Amino acid sequence: MNPCLREEQSLEASASGRWDDELRIHFSACSSCQDAVNVASFMRQLAAATAPERSLADSGTVWCKAQLVRRWALEERAGRPVEFMRWVGQAAGIAIPLGFVAWNWAELREWLGSVEPGSLNLLAASGSPSIFLWLVALSVGMVAVSAILTLQTLLGQD
Ligand SMILES: [Zn+2]
Repeated sequence: MNPCLREEQSLEASASGRWDDELRIHFSACSSCQDAVNVASFMRQLAAATAPERSLADSGTVWCKAQLVRRWALEERAGRPVEFMRWVGQAAGIAIPLGFVAWNWAELREWLGSVEPGSLNLLAASGSPSIFLWLVALSVGMVAVSAILTLQTLLGQD
């Protein structure tokens, strides 16, 4: 379909709002000119419609935020081994005394059964120096685990 020869005139008249009578009669009968004017009118409205203004953040602010996010990611990654060892230490602090009790349950029951009320002398009450040595070893172990946990906590706080 060839464009109408008067399409250019119709577009100019539509844009300026100045129609002469002859062109107005032609326009009312010519679908090609009507289509061209409708499309041009729509495109003018589209161009006039302004997109909502977006406020972009300052580039310095964006850079600072990116640096913070990067630093947080590095700190989180660097802290993973410390966090893992903290869990290992706490698990050991629970498992070691439980293991000790389970390992020596028979001796502990025997020793607890032999303790008389009012007697605080462990060597005499147990009748066996090995249980006393085990208790000393348990105490030393628990103190060592507590010291390790405290040290990890202090180093982890930084
Ligand atoms: Zn026409």
